[in-house]
Amino acid sequence: MQFSDKILNTPSSFIRNILKVTDSPEVISFAGGLPNPISFPIDALQEAINNAIAEQGAKLFQYSTTQGYEPLRQLIAAKYQRNFGLDIQAEDVFITTGSQQALELLGKVFLNKGDGVVMEAPGYLGAIQAFTLAEPNFYPVTLEDDGLNVDELEATLANNANIKFIYTVPNFQNPTGITYSKEKREAIYEVVKKYDVALIEDDPYGELRFEGEALPYIGAGRLENSVLLGSFSKTVTPGFRLGYIVTKNKEILSHVETAKQATDLHTNIFAQMTIAEYLTHNAYQEHVDKIIALYSKQANAMLQAIEKHFPAEVKYTKPEGGMFIWATMPAGISALELFDAAMKVNVAFVPGDPFYTHPENINTLRLNYTNATEEVIEEGIKRLGTIMKEVIAS
Ligand code: PMP
Repeated sequence: MQFSDKILNTPSSFIRNILKVTDSPEVISFAGGLPNPISFPIDALQEAINNAIAEQGAKLFQYSTTQGYEPLRQLIAAKYQRNFGLDIQAEDVFITTGSQQALELLGKVFLNKGDGVVMEAPGYLGAIQAFTLAEPNFYPVTLEDDGLNVDELEATLANNANIKFIYTVPNFQNPTGITYSKEKREAIYEVVKKYDVALIEDDPYGELRFEGEALPYIGAGRLENSVLLGSFSKTVTPGFRLGYIVTKNKEILSHVETAKQATDLHTNIFAQMTIAEYLTHNAYQEHVDKIIALYSKQANAMLQAIEKHFPAEVKYTKPEGGMFIWATMPAGISALELFDAAMKVNVAFVPGDPFYTHPENINTLRLNYTNATEEVIEEGIKRLGTIMKEVIAS
């Protein structure tokens, strides 16, 4: 039997593979990227399911439209009008099976084999995986503490006419937890608007800000080829698989619609109607505020533990929201080697390697803080700090 080059050249998810070995109860795992299950509004969703069935009956169980349930699209549009003053209408919103599917659809819509994609280095590995299926050339641009390196971005766009889009996670980025500064957003906008490329801003974490003020998007609301992605995974439930694309570009939407028809006809309508019912009758912002309070405490616990237990030469990010901290060990120290050593004392994290399209001598690692108590975080970071000192000294 022979398989396609496409699938043979696409790596299976490193994290999902790691989770298989880190999933035993004695392991303290900072490897996953899961929302904390205590944040799921189970009772309110139970009520929403009952009400949705009572009100919509058979419609909950029938095929539905490809673009998505209009009342849900209206609720999403209203959020962007309210929070950012953006002129977004229901017709500019397209519901997808998680924002992960949006990435895959955009890859299909934009990329021929060999076309260019600008990726943050390091960047979200699920995006690397989704785009890889379309066999592009990746152009990594260094992600600095305040966003993409603008000079590198400009040179990359100027030198590679095959580039179709730039992929960014401007808020509490996965894997680094970094947020683009206002100045960087402005500078990136000024560069990107000169080129005939799309700008994807993938923002599943933006609402989970526990410090500082929300910042305007880079391109959403002003760039002709702006594509904004959102998700209910981190704020309500990932299991429903509800994400969405927001763009005022009708050409993009029409192609996305064709791609989505071929993929799965439409997103689960049961989930769409239930979430619309939930959003209409519950204090959504109060719910999100509870998640923010929870993650803020966990992030602080991890930062304090790192300060106390990591060797001084290890640098780390201080996220203003989201779910991740990114640590950088001295050059030459292998994160994969650290992973093997840490697993021996039952602590797991994700080595930086899979977040790079061209990994080389990777000394970085991702730490998730949303799935452990403050005590467990302290214990896990203490063990990891000890192992780091040993690995660095060896
Ligand atoms: N984009 C980013 C940056 C993510 O971190 C994730 C989830 N790990 C996704 C997209 C996919 O999220 P979902 O499909 O659950 O909406």
